[in-house]
Amino acid sequence: MLLSGIVVADAHTVVRDGAIVVDDDRIAAVGDTTELAERYPDHATAEYDVLAPGLVGGHIHSVQSVGRGIADDTALLDWLFEYVLPMEADLNADEMEAAARLGYLECIESGTTTCIDHLSVAHADRAFEAAGELGIRGRLGKVLMDRGADAPDELVERTDAGLAESERLIREYHGAFDDRIRYAVTPRFAVSCSEDCLRGVRDLADQYDGVRIHTHASENTEEVATIERDTGHRNIHWLDEVGLTGEDVVLAHCVHTDETEREVLAETGTHVTYCPSSNMKLASGIAPIPEYLDRGINVALGNDGPPCNNTLDPFTEMRQASLLGKVDTRDPTTLPAETVFEMATVNGAAAAGFERVGKLKEGWKADIVGLSTDLTRATPLYDVLSHLVFAAHGDDVTFTMVDGEVLYEDGELTVADAPAIREEARRVARDLDTAANESIP
Ligand SMILES: [Zn+2]
Repeated sequence: MLLSGIVVADAHTVVRDGAIVVDDDRIAAVGDTTELAERYPDHATAEYDVLAPGLVGGHIHSVQSVGRGIADDTALLDWLFEYVLPMEADLNADEMEAAARLGYLECIESGTTTCIDHLSVAHADRAFEAAGELGIRGRLGKVLMDRGADAPDELVERTDAGLAESERLIREYHGAFDDRIRYAVTPRFAVSCSEDCLRGVRDLADQYDGVRIHTHASENTEEVATIERDTGHRNIHWLDEVGLTGEDVVLAHCVHTDETEREVLAETGTHVTYCPSSNMKLASGIAPIPEYLDRGINVALGNDGPPCNNTLDPFTEMRQASLLGKVDTRDPTTLPAETVFEMATVNGAAAAGFERVGKLKEGWKADIVGLSTDLTRATPLYDVLSHLVFAAHGDDVTFTMVDGEVLYEDGELTVADAPAIREEARRVARDLDTAANESIP
């Protein structure tokens, strides 16, 4: 297959009359259209306005997609314990699968080809199956919670039972679906996990090659105070103490960290995922991203979940990422388009632990999106990278490919029935209405 258009190969490389040659799951060549058409005369061709690397959602919750809009105008702990956890507890296996499918559908339609996905406590296998069916690349994990506080009883497991189920899922799904799916052991956050659980997470991840660890950390001041009260440590120091820092660990948020914690993140090579929309909507605060980058910390970009965003659109997230950084520093040069585009592509792939993903380069995975620029908001088009970060929307995506497989083309999902996915999600939401509405003032 030979795809042509303006090729944004990475944050610093744009080929105006460009083309990408795809053979099987790999990119065979990137370069000038005329030259590649001569070199590969037998390849079927397709034209797009802009071609870019598939975007990486460095922290999402696919299964919360059926809770889009149920918990506006709340802060993290109320949002979680009063609205989102009761919703997750209410989902049966079929509903969990419907929710996950809706989340992956939104990702694929809006240009996300890889995600790091924080599932729920129960029925995680159904989300793995949904990811396999829809063809997204992902680092997925069942959630671990062995301490209740105000969580619904159904979500609080015995420590050993949660870890045993995680191990079963690793054996079943780590490397599944042609290695598009890999596993992350996923404690919810330190507030809802005992020390035994957190240490067990590290032990389990160490037993399986390539398994990672993904959790939330230091998102909210109340969360940080709770952990300090319970453990005597700042959150990142506590995670470091129990083994949950390192090059195989992805921490979502890291909004409230002090100097010493930032040093730990840098020294251990821990990945951080910046979720600006969620941090704004839950009024959590502003993560010190420029400082993380200065220290050499790898920062990915994530939408977080539909109940706290309320979309999984990676383009609006890039825009928010840059704008929030600028307003925080009062410096317009903070987090320019190139930097946030890297967060949403190669940095995300590094956090997710997928090799040769996040750029359009010879020998790299054929994870590619095509976008239309035949739009008023894309007119005129001086700088395509600026357009992608500051003006484009997920709706502009017309083509999504993962591993050389076309998942979405001309507004149609090719691997499943998108209207049926949406209809099933509406049905789940209607059934959930009672539960959701009971907790809404
Ligand atoms: Zn989250």
